Amino acid sequence: MSTFDNATADRPIGLTAPSGIDRAAHHRLDEAWLAVAWSHPTTRVFVVSGGQVLIDDTPEGGTSIVMTPAFEAPVTETHRYFLGTDEEGVSYFALQKDSLPGRMDQSARPAGLREAGLLLGPRDAGLMVHAVALENWQRLHRFCSRCGERTVIAAAGHIRRCQACGAEHYPRTDPAVIMLVTDDQDRALLGRQVHWPEGRFSTLAGFVEPGESIEQSVVREVYEEAGVTVGEVEYVASQPWPFPSSLMLGFMARATSSEINVDGEEIEEARWFSREDLRAAFESGEVMPPFGISIAARLIELWYGKPLPRPGSQNRTN
Ligand SMILES: [Zn+2]
Repeated sequence: MSTFDNATADRPIGLTAPSGIDRAAHHRLDEAWLAVAWSHPTTRVFVVSGGQVLIDDTPEGGTSIVMTPAFEAPVTETHRYFLGTDEEGVSYFALQKDSLPGRMDQSARPAGLREAGLLLGPRDAGLMVHAVALENWQRLHRFCSRCGERTVIAAAGHIRRCQACGAEHYPRTDPAVIMLVTDDQDRALLGRQVHWPEGRFSTLAGFVEPGESIEQSVVREVYEEAGVTVGEVEYVASQPWPFPSSLMLGFMARATSSEINVDGEEIEEARWFSREDLRAAFESGEVMPPFGISIAARLIELWYGKPLPRPGSQNRTN
């Protein structure tokens, strides 16, 4: 498939761009190194709480995470995550707290990844997605899955250790597939999940099951959700998706059947759209343009061949 030689192929996918941060994993168990890095004047620290960080506008017109030197950071004994160093040697830490620090200045504001991911540059988006993923994992793995006792944080946030049985638990990532299915007329299959609002259509998606390849997962999910059989499957890109711990693996898939039979449990409605169908549906407001950091919007855009209209812009221009 010549999926990518169009005007949108070079646009970055949210949260997948190189962040310029070296995670420097070899330092995570080196307490002496971490202590020096923590107290170094150039080190930058931010608080993550409930999946949110404080963001602020920059004088250059961008948006960045509010960071401070360590001596200005809130006190925390344990929940300190080392995220890595940049090319200038600056070390970055996130502190997990029960709440974000209060700010007197007006423009700083709390933001979750869905909002901040659209605003932050690659460095800060990368730092945030790392911190949020660790926070989610830490929150859900306080007890040992082997013996049931409490676990404690180790390796600067990247291990939880059981003091009863000695087991070490590592952050887990759940692979999920997300795919734009096209047919022999180059129409795209978009579905609407049961709990989505009227007019929201997107790519099909689902979790990889135990003992399954990702290609098998694409085929199974499309058949389960929409009753459509799939042949050729082409990998496009991946995207960390810590809601709470997924990695989205994005595909283009070619249908070998066209009759739709939705499962009615996950997917309420699915339709084949030609580009012209979709353009008209955006214009009439029948279909809401997908928007946000999700790779779903980019998969649709790659097929559509040009940037999708922004939500709310349906009736203005095209
Ligand atoms: Zn244990």
